[in-house]
Amino acid sequence: MARIRTKPDPQRYTFDGFGSAQYPNLMLLGAGDLDNWTLKAYRDKWGGYQSLGKALKMEPAAVTGEVKVSDLRGRGGAGFRTGLKWGFMPKDTPERKLTRYLVCNGDEGEPGTFKDRAILEYNPHQLIEGMIIAGWAMQCRLGFIYLRGEFGWLVDKLEAAIQQARDAGYLGKNIQGTGWDFDLLTYRGAGAYICGEETALLNSLEGRRGEPRVKPPFPAQAGAFGQPTTVNNVETLAAVPVILRMGGAQYARIGLPGNTGTRIYCLSGHVKRPGLYELPLGLPLDFIMNDLAGGSSTGRKIKAVIPGGASAPIFDAKDFDCPMDFDTVKARGSMAGSAGIIAMDEDTCMVRTLLRLTSFYAHESCGQCTPCREGCNWMEMILHRIEHGQGRPDDLALLASLPPRINMRTLCPLGDAACGPVESAMAKFRNEFEHHITHKECLCPARV
Ligand code: SF4
Repeated sequence: MARIRTKPDPQRYTFDGFGSAQYPNLMLLGAGDLDNWTLKAYRDKWGGYQSLGKALKMEPAAVTGEVKVSDLRGRGGAGFRTGLKWGFMPKDTPERKLTRYLVCNGDEGEPGTFKDRAILEYNPHQLIEGMIIAGWAMQCRLGFIYLRGEFGWLVDKLEAAIQQARDAGYLGKNIQGTGWDFDLLTYRGAGAYICGEETALLNSLEGRRGEPRVKPPFPAQAGAFGQPTTVNNVETLAAVPVILRMGGAQYARIGLPGNTGTRIYCLSGHVKRPGLYELPLGLPLDFIMNDLAGGSSTGRKIKAVIPGGASAPIFDAKDFDCPMDFDTVKARGSMAGSAGIIAMDEDTCMVRTLLRLTSFYAHESCGQCTPCREGCNWMEMILHRIEHGQGRPDDLALLASLPPRINMRTLCPLGDAACGPVESAMAKFRNEFEHHITHKECLCPARV
């Protein structure tokens, strides 16, 4: 049965000269203006820190309540409900006063994803304000901004922004006369993909080897340095001042019920206008890709799209009408993940693409779990053979036998992440793999 839908109007979306379309422009705030990162610009142009003033007049539990009403879901990949997560933090008891921590996950290592770095670089005060509000809501003592190692170039600017907030009395002792103390520290990892997983991040933050922990205990029970901790993504925390400003109920009207607000989609690959697009959740993929990002940059048809960062199962053309919200993308067999949309035209070799993706996961596996450590290497080895003209007749059956031995048998989602692209590419582009094995050459005429 044909799917009937109303096509959104591209005229509603304005291009800002930064290679991006922004609607309703809540997160990037005119990224590309090089002075936008300062406290003065944030306050003068965007009314910055007014949401903090509002939050500090509310009870901490009421702030969490507002975030629950907004139905904000984590923008890092899993889409877990933020207000619910904050509610997991244990409260003080008469016998015990807890030291709670807030950690901002700025590891952003998912290939195809480059939104958090734009917030960190162009709009750091919105993140800082969001962290102070979140810290107040959960009554945290200290916040950490964990950055991937490769983000070294933006640390100075981020720390300067934190110092500006400190000088203005938004951080430090007795913030705005509330009697509450809170400060922020930055921490740089060493560049491991797995440190995007929250417990591996916490290990790295503590100076340990960055590998995932066995759960439970979950971070809200025993996180950083054994204390109750909440870990939220950069974009998630930067949405918090917007929610306080608009009110949770108003924010929840953007997007779709259950998939509210805006996301920053990262468009890359074979589209004419790659870049960052801040859009309400639920717009169809083909609208984002064709009407906003200009369609194919090569003039050839787009044949495959990774809809949510490299670990998301690959879509073929029959799913290009998919609304980009967490639930629908999942129902279609993939995941909205970190909102990294990678478009590939019909001359993209899916064997070579899959080999690159699988090599990445094999390299980034921390090695704790046998199915992930061995399975990713096996998948890479088989794909290497097929890609280099040495594929064997039984290689596809062997490759297909591996994901069921890895999926759901590992400590963290990396094992599953490595399997999604393999299973989807083999299901949707099997003829390319067979052609490589039978003819020892690629099926794509102008192979890229
Ligand atoms: Fe490490 Fe892979 Fe196990 Fe995750 S699934 S803990 S990356 S071995």
